[in-house]
Amino acid sequence: MATFFKRKRRRTHTGPNKNEKKVLRGQEADRLVRTAGLMKDRFPSVQRLTVQLDFVTPQQHLLDRQTRVFNPTDVCDFSVSCPGRCGGQGAFDLEAKIKSVIDSRQARAEGSGTCAEALYPGSPEVCGSQLRCKIEATYSS
Ligand SMILES: [Zn+2]
Repeated sequence: MATFFKRKRRRTHTGPNKNEKKVLRGQEADRLVRTAGLMKDRFPSVQRLTVQLDFVTPQQHLLDRQTRVFNPTDVCDFSVSCPGRCGGQGAFDLEAKIKSVIDSRQARAEGSGTCAEALYPGSPEVCGSQLRCKIEATYSS
């Protein structure tokens, strides 16, 4: 069988040039602000955020239950790795959901998602574990 696709190999790696480095630094800073800001800096109106996470198998069995509480001095880490059959390769990112809840000052919200990570690299079957989350937020004013 003919090979139509060949990965290009570069033997000499010269590293990023000045401009690329600048871009990388910017991206890194963005990433830190986006993922690791403190609650009080990112969401100053929030006094307390509680996120209850239920992980359910495709057969609807409860895999794991976690509760995360965020206070104003806590880092906003809203990504959760999947405890299902993908072996933690999949992750749920609650960032957008939580942001929309807080932006609209909801006291309570629920969300869910399904892990679409392959069971192993190249597998046609996906993990399929579900995350159901309940979000509760208390605002300072
Ligand atoms: Zn998974």
